[in-house]
Amino acid sequence: MGMPANVDIGSSIWVGNPEFAWVDGVVLNVKDEEAEIQTGDENVIVARLASIHPRDVEAGPYGFDDMTNLHYLNEPAVLHNLRSRFEMEKIYTYSGDILIAVNPFQELPDLYDASKMEEYKGVPLGKLSPHVFAIADTAYREMVNEGKSISILVSGESGAGKTETTKMLMRYLAYLVGHTGSGGRSIEQKVLEVDLKLMICTPLARIVAGTGQSNPVLEAFGNAKTVRNNNSSRFGKFVEIQFDRGGRISGAAIRTYLLERSRVCQISDCERNYHCFYLLCAAPEEEIEKFKLGNPKSFHYLNQSDCYELAGVNDANNYLTTRRAMDIVGINEKEQEAIFRIIAAILHLGNIDFENEDDNALVKDEQAKFHLQTTAELLMCDPQSLEDALCKRVMITPEEVIKKSLDPLGAAVSRDGLAKTIYSRLFNWLVDKINISIGQDPNSKCLIGVLDIYGFESFATNSFEQFCINFTNEKLQQHFNQHVFKTEQEEYAREEIDWSYVEFVDNQDALDLIEKKPGGIISLLDEACMFPKSTHETFAQKLYQTFKDHKRFIKPKLARSDFTIVHYAGEVQYQSDQFLDKNKDYVVPEHQDLLSASTCSFVAGLFPAYSEETVKSSKFSSIGSRFKVQLQQLMEILKSTEPYYIRCVKPNNLLKPALFENVNVVQQLRSGGVLEAIKIKCNGYPVHITFSDFINRFFILAPEVLRGEYVCYEEKVACTWILEKTELTEYLMGKTKIFLRADQIAQLDTQRSRIL
Ligand code: ADP
Ligand code: MG
Repeated sequence: MGMPANVDIGSSIWVGNPEFAWVDGVVLNVKDEEAEIQTGDENVIVARLASIHPRDVEAGPYGFDDMTNLHYLNEPAVLHNLRSRFEMEKIYTYSGDILIAVNPFQELPDLYDASKMEEYKGVPLGKLSPHVFAIADTAYREMVNEGKSISILVSGESGAGKTETTKMLMRYLAYLVGHTGSGGRSIEQKVLEVDLKLMICTPLARIVAGTGQSNPVLEAFGNAKTVRNNNSSRFGKFVEIQFDRGGRISGAAIRTYLLERSRVCQISDCERNYHCFYLLCAAPEEEIEKFKLGNPKSFHYLNQSDCYELAGVNDANNYLTTRRAMDIVGINEKEQEAIFRIIAAILHLGNIDFENEDDNALVKDEQAKFHLQTTAELLMCDPQSLEDALCKRVMITPEEVIKKSLDPLGAAVSRDGLAKTIYSRLFNWLVDKINISIGQDPNSKCLIGVLDIYGFESFATNSFEQFCINFTNEKLQQHFNQHVFKTEQEEYAREEIDWSYVEFVDNQDALDLIEKKPGGIISLLDEACMFPKSTHETFAQKLYQTFKDHKRFIKPKLARSDFTIVHYAGEVQYQSDQFLDKNKDYVVPEHQDLLSASTCSFVAGLFPAYSEETVKSSKFSSIGSRFKVQLQQLMEILKSTEPYYIRCVKPNNLLKPALFENVNVVQQLRSGGVLEAIKIKCNGYPVHITFSDFINRFFILAPEVLRGEYVCYEEKVACTWILEKTELTEYLMGKTKIFLRADQIAQLDTQRSRIL
């Protein structure tokens, strides 16, 4: 966002402020690189010119529905606009075709009811107040009328409202296909409607409706309470709704990404494990007895945090709801039994403690032995084999095959590894099952895909998960930049202006750093994982050497194994110590053998015996590389669709209504690419103002254009007249609009305010 060349005395401005991000003020004096400013709260301060942006005093109190109408398209103006609207409970705002949604953290009256849906039906985007329904409606019309596939990309940090937004999109689409046609309907249409009403009753349509039954299942197994969100989705998802030629839903598919595995055995304070564990502990008495469960406080995987219950959530009821939801998506009674038996087994598994005998791990005491026995019973495998799988490793040397005991720490790692593997296989099974049950349409003509995926993350400590998440966001950012660039070009073309002024902001270098093959971080990590002697320190050394001169890579001062990536949204320092472990997607053969031998066909089915093929490939498979492939596939789909973007914003970290923290929001706008999009515009001529708006605002600089003898019959001529009189050069004249640089509009405004 370029700084206007002239900051004149008397001009209204925004000035950077550590507490509020930006405060308003008026320039009193300018000297060298500094300005004296009277701020809105009557203080006089001195600020560097570089921290000053022009402010539009006429941007009324209600804010603009669409921020591309802001005269000064800068960060403080965007922030101020969102804030004013939020204070009036207007949570939605457009920035061109991007929808920004600020989480209200309260139910707003009538915002999503049926009459609201009816209101938005068939109305062009921008005619009504910004709304998620308007995006869904436009997307659907574009698909039906132009035969295009659409993707709606919902992003934002945890707790920003992505999943709720996704549900509303789905609900509206289900409503649309259930309510098409009105007035004098033909018989054919009526038949169609009956058909659609029937469809609404199928699981498929219910899933799409978001009120349906796949949500409770996926949420029970994939969501958890975190400090950021009481119902945080711990996986990314892309829901693809397939439509037939008539615009009716004909199939759907859910793809999930990167379930957070570590949560199964490790939780931080104030957080919970996956909901399903608590649901099961609140199940009816006979289940509890059957699975030998009891108070969640007695299980190591749950009692690492003191949080068990959630305000307003009844685990016992939710257990029954989840069971019913499982019925509806076609998970039969026997499968459900097995699923919860596995969940119970994981809890017992976590309670198998080890003690040390000459550096060999032994199952600790009677208590631990009871849990070992119970785990084996529930998984229907041999208790001795389970104990061996936890405590021993088979070593194959050229001479012999030996069983080597692990130390207690190694055994605990092995135990947790087993828990994570079982859980993630179970989760994948559920996703596959739901997909089979809703059914795909192989002949589908078009699709609407909705992506609900974690936004950019930068915490005090950042590990492999953040690395993958931020990699995703770099990818999506590139896609977004390309889209913004393209729409800008189109606007220039429409106005018949040469679009070489639009500059493409690219982050390809950051992507190369991460994913280039060979030589990128993911490749180097895989190499490290395959080489038995590597440690996170040797891995980090390799990174330091390889990327010594890379613009996007920094070795932090004093760091021994940390590394920093300069992402599009800012620098993130990663702790590499668990990268190798977390990247290994290798199920220990001992675990594999144990579970594939289970007499429970469901358990054994989660661990199909390896073929020669999988043995070979599994050795080289890593979470990072597999994720990279998944992401590439996702990008292929996205590239073949027309994108719509919804940026969710979390106004505060207390999850409270009516509280808008400027600094927090600015950070999200930066990392969500909203400001990046604005930057693309600002590199060229960010102000696109129609001839008539221009005349209304600036005729005062040349009042004669409206006076009798000089009457300019053509708006364009009048604008040129005004511009010539102000001695402005290098502006661009389009067919209906004038394109100005930020400093040019500021200059005009200053001249104008001198006259007024
Ligand atoms: P994310 O998926 O981005 O992590 P969620 O969609 O789960 O966030 O939203 C977190 C919480 O915020 C929800 O449980 C809900 O209480 C609240 N919330 C989000 N969006 C809305 C909305 N549009 N209206 C009311 N409350 C909302
Ligand atoms: Mg979510």
